[in-house]
Amino acid sequence: MTTTADPKVGGGSKPIIEGRRNLATRIAVYIFILVPFAALIAAVPFAWGWGLGWVDVILAVFFFYLSGLGVTVGYHRLFTHGSFKANRPLKITLAVMGSMAVQSPPITWVADHRRHHAFSDREGDPHSPWLFGTSPMALARGFWHAHMGWIFDHDVTNKERFAPDLMADKDIVAVNRLFVVFTGLTLVMPAVLGGLITWSWWGALTAFFWAGLVRIAILHHVTWSTNSICHMIGDRPFTSRDKASNFWPLAILSFGESWHNLHHADPTCARHGVQRGQIDTSARLIWIFEKLGWATDVRWPTEARLAKIAAK
Ligand SMILES: [Zn+2]
Ligand SMILES: [Zn+2]
Repeated sequence: MTTTADPKVGGGSKPIIEGRRNLATRIAVYIFILVPFAALIAAVPFAWGWGLGWVDVILAVFFFYLSGLGVTVGYHRLFTHGSFKANRPLKITLAVMGSMAVQSPPITWVADHRRHHAFSDREGDPHSPWLFGTSPMALARGFWHAHMGWIFDHDVTNKERFAPDLMADKDIVAVNRLFVVFTGLTLVMPAVLGGLITWSWWGALTAFFWAGLVRIAILHHVTWSTNSICHMIGDRPFTSRDKASNFWPLAILSFGESWHNLHHADPTCARHGVQRGQIDTSARLIWIFEKLGWATDVRWPTEARLAKIAAK
């Protein structure tokens, strides 16, 4: 167990679990994980032309980027790891965008993720695929647990221990409290836009389905793949004390988060795709924010740092 007092690592003598989820939260977790997933499966028989059109596709891509980058740039690189500083409007905007991915309120997400780094692939890690053994059956079980099984775990990560900095930030606490509202908005906004653009109730319904439910489901699985696939399969060009790996096929869909080996080797680095040709949309967006003057103190990788963490 770690003993450092750094809130980004989660230190001190406070227990790592603060309590158990209440029934309402449990039910909400089931509904918001299973309903979008069921929608994704139900989508297969849907055909282009009557239940899916360009408006749905464009809205789905737009909301995928909006909520996805909210998680990767906001929840992950800014709030969890402090890889840059954001001005107040940017900070609040990113927290709202991240909330629209329906993965959990920002403080919960950050606490879970800091616990993941503090105990990565060891006892205490909320979603390691390696806690059950290395036989094929154990790995299948590990994959399921790391991908989405852990979400049905009722243990609540101790926010006092892992995210005291965010709990002291009034803006983040306010966004955290309004999570239910943003969950509603992320579903209602595509429907309203789809309805207005096509000027039909049917357009509202198909946009709700594709740009609301299906988009959330796909983004869920992309994010979870970082926890499952990117701790099992791929290259490890850098030294990390866990099994984090770079998995190139997910680079674009995950906004650069699948360069996960570098991320665990150097968690505060603002760019995860540091090698030639490694696309990292999140890092590009942080770069734009920096040029606009909204982001400062960006921790960009340096040659010396990369040489130091390179795998021997
Ligand atoms: Zn990881
Ligand atoms: Zn991380």
